[in-house]
Amino acid sequence: MARNLTTTADLTNAEIEAIFEEASGYLESETNQKLRGKLVINIFFENSTRTRSSFEVASRRLGAEVVSLDVASSSESKGETIHDTAANLDAMGASAIVVRHKNAGAPKLLSKFVKASVINGGDGAHAHPTQALLDLFTLRQAIGDVRGRKILIVGDIRNSRVANSAIKLLTRFGMKVVLAAPPHFLPKRANVKTTWNIRDELDGASAIMSLRTQTERHEKPIYASLSDYAANFKITKDLLGDRDIFVMHPGPVHRNIDLDDGVLSDPRSLVLRQVHNGVAVRMAILSKFVLEY
Ligand code: ASP
Repeated sequence: MARNLTTTADLTNAEIEAIFEEASGYLESETNQKLRGKLVINIFFENSTRTRSSFEVASRRLGAEVVSLDVASSSESKGETIHDTAANLDAMGASAIVVRHKNAGAPKLLSKFVKASVINGGDGAHAHPTQALLDLFTLRQAIGDVRGRKILIVGDIRNSRVANSAIKLLTRFGMKVVLAAPPHFLPKRANVKTTWNIRDELDGASAIMSLRTQTERHEKPIYASLSDYAANFKITKDLLGDRDIFVMHPGPVHRNIDLDDGVLSDPRSLVLRQVHNGVAVRMAILSKFVLEY
């Protein structure tokens, strides 16, 4: 039976440690032939720049063949159900299928129709497990032991699968997560501390994870303007001062709304390191799911 990665809860802490150890090795030696002869299929029913290309690069660096389905030209637009599409791709002998879909739960549903391991590349506002894993990996690389360290998650948390997965994984690994956003961007129920004023929580923070406004998931405009939002929540060099706070963002960055130019080019920005590490972490994830199951 194939095993699937739909949320970070599908992995034990020991499995995550093993993935991180393997990923660290991939940062040193970037290519191998571990998945030679295997086929990885990316089906992205929703836009993606980083995640899709990261999985492609990761698959190639492991020697696998990779096919990325261009959804605009796929059969969904001709009325085929997503599970029929997936079952057809599975019949081509895929070992892993990476799925992104606007509906929460789509990867789990698909996994019932295919033999391959299904890896969630982001489903609605629900989960983005590989992003959370690469973020934890990057935080550890930057600050070492993360237990007891504070991270502020800032932005449209309510509609963000990145925030949802990060809150669960980072608290599980002992971080103090604080959510900083205007009321309409905070989740209706939060199990962690929340604030409307980012300045109240900067002291003692080790990192900030900034998130973009997820306008595609708003049924109607729920804020006055992005510049009002930016006035209070944009991360600037002034706001950081001389504090040792690392700044993260999963991309795409709304420049000068989420982060200002100065922060993006500051040595405290981990944004490109997240992308770099993402390939290594996804290599370790693919090799685990393809070879062990
Ligand atoms: N790239 C991330 C995602 O797919 C974050 C974002 O789009 O804001 O969820």
